[in-house]
Amino acid sequence: MKDDLRRDPRKEWIARNRLHPDHQRVLAELGRGAASAEWLGPNGLTRRDPHAVGFIGPSGLKRIDRSGTQQAATASDTRQRGAAVDARKWIDIETPAFVVAVVPDMSAGRLSSQDRDVLGLARRLADADPQRPGAVLAVLFGEHKEDSLGEAGIDRLLHLDDDAFAGYTPEARLAALLAVERQWAPRYWLLPDSALGGADLGRRLAARLGERPATGVWQLNADAGNGGWQCLARGAAGTSDIQRPLPRVVLALAECAEPVYEARHAARPVELAQKLPETLSRIRDMGAVAVDPAGVSLAEAEFILSAGNGVKNWEGYHRAAEVLQATKGASRVAVDDGFMPRDRQVGATGTWVTARVYVAVGISGAIQHLQGIQSCDKVVAINSDGGCDMVKRADLAVLGDASQILEALVALVEQYRQQQQESRDAA
Ligand SMILES: Cc1cc2nc3c(=O)[nH]c(=O)nc-3n(C[C@H](O)[C@H](O)[C@H](O)COP(=O)(O)OP(=O)(O)OC[C@H]3O[C@@H](n4cnc5c(N)ncnc54)[C@H](O)[C@@H]3O)c2cc1C
Repeated sequence: MKDDLRRDPRKEWIARNRLHPDHQRVLAELGRGAASAEWLGPNGLTRRDPHAVGFIGPSGLKRIDRSGTQQAATASDTRQRGAAVDARKWIDIETPAFVVAVVPDMSAGRLSSQDRDVLGLARRLADADPQRPGAVLAVLFGEHKEDSLGEAGIDRLLHLDDDAFAGYTPEARLAALLAVERQWAPRYWLLPDSALGGADLGRRLAARLGERPATGVWQLNADAGNGGWQCLARGAAGTSDIQRPLPRVVLALAECAEPVYEARHAARPVELAQKLPETLSRIRDMGAVAVDPAGVSLAEAEFILSAGNGVKNWEGYHRAAEVLQATKGASRVAVDDGFMPRDRQVGATGTWVTARVYVAVGISGAIQHLQGIQSCDKVVAINSDGGCDMVKRADLAVLGDASQILEALVALVEQYRQQQQESRDAA
């Protein structure tokens, strides 16, 4: 009995579904990471994974590294991860040999998936020599709601939540980063190369440090020749890859590295030794401008309510999108049937979206649609079929008739807003 193999059907489904965000983690847990193209199946027969060669690049295309460098690096990473998953190690680096500084975007006060990938990249750099590990120092601006900073691979945490850093304040933030540079002299600076975050700050930092940054970085390889690192970065408007030695300032894309899963790091709070000088700002943040979510392009939308063939009450769907202040999206069937305009189509032949929350209403989850939402942080499925692929892909599924669920959701949101208004009026 004790030798019986216990199967977890959900994990096995994720292991088969290369588009699932937890795919790599689950492969590692099942001992089927890139390291092993073979494993023992539940019936005792050896199973082979023909997809184990190569990896998915930032554009969603499969890439095969014929030099073998990436495969070897990934294999050893995955082996280490596989071994550590069960142990869930607690890591506190007392005297780091050097510091790798990371400035996450913390959009909406939380680590984005790109932030986590960049922290994963930082860990690869910090942990390259186990005898002389470095520390990952994260610099966070403004208030945040994140409670898993150590789990994301952070050893030292510099949290600067002064009012001076609120809103769009690149000059004040740059002054703080220069103070970090003086105090810790990081060996590397890593920022997400994201349009509304690190891309701007990272380029400013590189200019002030007199460094030529690597931008659009999506892969890191150990340079066997001189013991350093080589990076691959998107260039020529995303049409080609540029390989170069890794510079000090790195602006990295989503999927540049595996996020940290296997360990909890100390995330020890640290402070700047000296008070920051007052910066004379030539930029004034006039505050956020309310925009019509319907006018936001799908590629930039943070919150998308997408409609498919399962939507029968179109009036109810449009009303829900307005009340929830969501950007509207659609499956190809909804577009082909004339219910939604062509520029709202999500998927392989529509727009690839990167929303923080993607709600799929009456969408079955065809592979062409799933390709377009693979970079979304959280997917919610509203569907009457609990076995459809969208429900399997979703982080949260609500099963039932779409019209009734949207109606109930609208009622709840309106009730919540009314209560908020009443308590504001009473105060
Ligand atoms: C070359 C090619 C490119 C393509 N590109 C794209 C693309 O970019 N984007 C795209 O979306 N598709 C694309 N497609 C089409 C894709 O294959 C699917 O046909 C399409 O995504 C299905 O759309 P759907 O999920 O809305 O419809 P369906 O597959 O018909 O699914 C409807 C869903 O609604 C649910 N449902 C039904 N009634 C209700 C109800 N009352 N309440 C709640 N749920 C309900 C059903 O359970 C089902 O899951 C492409 C196809 C090809 C061949």
